[in-house]
Amino acid sequence: MATTDDRDAAGEAHGFRRPSWKALAAEARERFGVEQFRPGQREIIEALLDGKDVLGVMPTGAGKSLCFQLPALFLPKLTVVVSPLLALMQDQHEKLSDAAVDVVKLDSTLTAREADAVAREVRRGQHELIYVTPEQLEKPERLEALRKAGVSLFVVDEAHCVSQWGHDFRPAFLALRDAVQQLGRPPLLAVTATATPQVREDVLRQLGMESAERVNTGIRRDNLHLEVARTVNPEAKRARMMKLLQEEQGTGIIYTATVRKAEEVYQWLKDAGVEAERYHGQMKSSERQEVQQRFMENGYRVIVATKAFGLGIDKPDIRFVAHWQFPDSLESYYQEAGRAGRDGAPARAVLFYRLEDRRIQSYFLGGKYPRREESQALYSVLRELWAHRQGKPVSLKVLTEASGLPANRVKVLVAQLAGAGILERGPRGLKQLRDFETNEELDDYLTTYEKRHQNDRERLQQMMRYGQTTGCRWRFISEYFDEPEHEECQRCDNCEERAAGHFDATSPTAIATPPAAS
Ligand code: ADP
Repeated sequence: MATTDDRDAAGEAHGFRRPSWKALAAEARERFGVEQFRPGQREIIEALLDGKDVLGVMPTGAGKSLCFQLPALFLPKLTVVVSPLLALMQDQHEKLSDAAVDVVKLDSTLTAREADAVAREVRRGQHELIYVTPEQLEKPERLEALRKAGVSLFVVDEAHCVSQWGHDFRPAFLALRDAVQQLGRPPLLAVTATATPQVREDVLRQLGMESAERVNTGIRRDNLHLEVARTVNPEAKRARMMKLLQEEQGTGIIYTATVRKAEEVYQWLKDAGVEAERYHGQMKSSERQEVQQRFMENGYRVIVATKAFGLGIDKPDIRFVAHWQFPDSLESYYQEAGRAGRDGAPARAVLFYRLEDRRIQSYFLGGKYPRREESQALYSVLRELWAHRQGKPVSLKVLTEASGLPANRVKVLVAQLAGAGILERGPRGLKQLRDFETNEELDDYLTTYEKRHQNDRERLQQMMRYGQTTGCRWRFISEYFDEPEHEECQRCDNCEERAAGHFDATSPTAIATPPAAS
């Protein structure tokens, strides 16, 4: 395992001389129109140019992209940015091309021929920055192209996706650590807007960057007004939503927990004469792209969407984000609500809270993780395959077919076996390193996902407490993320109520008595 010390640092090894801060600032002004750096940006940029690993935790809209886009212009070799979503990559790609930055992307929208052409250009060293999805890095030929080009900086955007404790967890992210090793272990930057201490540590461990510098600019957003709308029945909920739409004339997002609900709310809004659209995972990808594009261009006021919408969408003037049903955790909530008001002007995050919405989330939790029997079955299939092939590596494809489990489940389980030191993912497949030493060790492995499930239930519980608290909502969020910002915001609905003398709650976790039929 490589550490920060045995890798090829960005510094002298490439004959690289760090540019002066003046030169960096001039470039930022000229290419990106940045007059002044925002909190955290300078620290991150300087650490990266010194060849250090960095974990950057900054709120949505704080300007994380500049932290790697600016160094990319100065570093001698390629900057690779791993990003979870096509929409995000598209958006960044267009912006950078406008700034005359030499950038390419490698994702599943390219044909095989186009992707090969990009790989050839990369190998010849024609680009400064490349955006890739983690799935692309699972292909040995793509990795080889990057290795040949040489990588000065490896960036993991939306890094909470790496953590299996995080809500947006993606199995392909688990293989990143191995990919980074194969690329000569360049300095790493992991950036995210949401990370509890647990997720933060997991990200560092999963990526093998435990000694990284940590830059955390806090999570509060002064322009974002937090409020909760508790309603007693569906009619009241609709009436409350209409009121919000009348109060807020700008664009907004309404999140629902299911596709069915998104369709239902969308239809209701249309019937009520609201300029609305919808966005969810069951629409065709071309249709989704069109909806997104029109939303960016202010084609309609409201988009009703499932959580499939929004990761990385940089529309600065969203005036409100409403949740028709509460999401699975405060991480999700903070991320989704945080899409409002990225331009810094006042914006509202309104959670529509009804206790019974818990059922939907509990249902989702039930099917998320591999079950104990699945872990067991996969491991015995894998052992048989190794025995049959006399210890030679087994490809992921063969294992997936032989196990009969869904491909994503297999990836998750394989990553977990790799984490336990049982196997190694190499260019030729999964290689056995050792067997479980004791029954306890095996048992630990088998119960990992039961523990995760428990953890998810607790997170859902916290989400619900946020909906019920009579204390300051920003303080509640700060405490949840273990941030040191504990003063009351004086602006959320509860702080306002208290100032108006409506109730007295001194504890952020004080629970209001729920209305009779919520
Ligand atoms: P996020 O942290 O959510 O990834 P982005 O990197 O997309 O945020 O930045 C949000 C917006 O702020 C972008 O439009 C970006 O161009 C702008 N921005 C970033 N840094 C600065 C800065 N120092 N000064 C002015 N605008 C900036």
